[in-house]
Amino acid sequence: MNGGDTYPGSYGDTFRPDGLLCREVKDSPGRDSQSIEKDESEKEQQKGLLCRHCRLLITTSKERLDKAGKHLHTFFNPAGVVYEIGCFRRAPGCIPFGPSSKEFAWFKGYSWQIVYCRGCQQHLGWSFSGEDQFFGIIVNKLVEA
Ligand SMILES: [Zn+2]
Repeated sequence: MNGGDTYPGSYGDTFRPDGLLCREVKDSPGRDSQSIEKDESEKEQQKGLLCRHCRLLITTSKERLDKAGKHLHTFFNPAGVVYEIGCFRRAPGCIPFGPSSKEFAWFKGYSWQIVYCRGCQQHLGWSFSGEDQFFGIIVNKLVEA
């Protein structure tokens, strides 16, 4: 724990089921995504990451990005649903859906928009826009090619 347990946004009285979540899970025991990420990006060229549902190419391992110091982020929403997302520079297999919002911003200074799979319209994650743009894709929605 470093510091407080402050919410990035304030609670409204409604939550959207697909909406952004308000808190990051702090502990991620046994994970060392940074060093793994480094090794992988050096050694492996490019691995396709497919929609688990329809097998459409969503993005590739080459597009992996560290945000706030790490590639993987775990969040949960007030209903207790946990999402583990990976950050990607680009995700051409995603289409944005709905308006962008700054409510419950996971990443400070970024607004977000829900993204769906272009092939099957499954909810895959979110796109984030701020000083740059990136995608947060729910990792268990993806399979490696
Ligand atoms: Zn799909």
